[in-house]
Amino acid sequence: ESGLYVVATPIGNLGDISARALEVLAAVDLIAAEDTRHSAQLLQHYAIDNTVLAYHEHSDQRAAQRVMQCLAEGGAVALVSDAGTPLISDPGYRLVREAQDLGYRVIPLPGPCAAVAALSVSGLPTDRFMFEGFLPNKSGTRSNRLRELQQREETLIFYEAPHRIEDCLADLVAVFGADREALLAREITKTFETVRRAPLGELLAFVQGDSNQQRGEIVLVVAGLRQRSSEVDPETARLLQRLAQDLP
Ligand code: SAM
Repeated sequence: ESGLYVVATPIGNLGDISARALEVLAAVDLIAAEDTRHSAQLLQHYAIDNTVLAYHEHSDQRAAQRVMQCLAEGGAVALVSDAGTPLISDPGYRLVREAQDLGYRVIPLPGPCAAVAALSVSGLPTDRFMFEGFLPNKSGTRSNRLRELQQREETLIFYEAPHRIEDCLADLVAVFGADREALLAREITKTFETVRRAPLGELLAFVQGDSNQQRGEIVLVVAGLRQRSSEVDPETARLLQRLAQDLP
């Protein structure tokens, strides 16, 4: 069927592609890919022989025009990124908007997303969460952004590069406090998958003590600010208990 298919692909384990995604990738007239060589590996693995076009958010308009041309002729186009769900810290936003504005169908093919995978095993509240994506690279601007997020009550999800994970955790400790709970999810679905929930201070010590933890792909999930009774300091808790005893 004609339209732009936004197709999620694996974030490490090739087995995580859906049957429907494989069908669509084989059937469309054109695949628009963030990196043609990267996507070629996936297609080759599944013996899919199809036309692949390079598409970056800021690539010249020609790639987008070719996609729109294909849709105008009643064709079907699949958009894929290197890993996971397109548009989630990945290219595609402008393409999706343009296709919709021109009246074409845009069809989601849901699948892997590192943020959701990490959240699902975080052990932190999932009823409300905020996806922040990549924080600024420089410590000063990163800390400024973290200060803006420090009071948020929902669970926070960050993508971070391995060579910045230590500095990022140090800034998180400085702004959120060493006791705030968080999850480090590294190399999800891959051989060296690590999922570790601990207070931020412990996570910082963990990555400092093991350089392997500063490699690969990483999602950080950080608990929101919560006023739980257990977070009342022990002194105040005792005082409250004594006051409660005096109540009628
Ligand atoms: N579109 C992708 C998605 O749906 O998750 C995200 C693309 S973004 C450019 C890449 C970042 O996602 C990495 O730097 C890392 O933070 C996270 N990521 C991707 N794959 C991952 C994996 N297997 N394990 C942990 N984090 C991953």
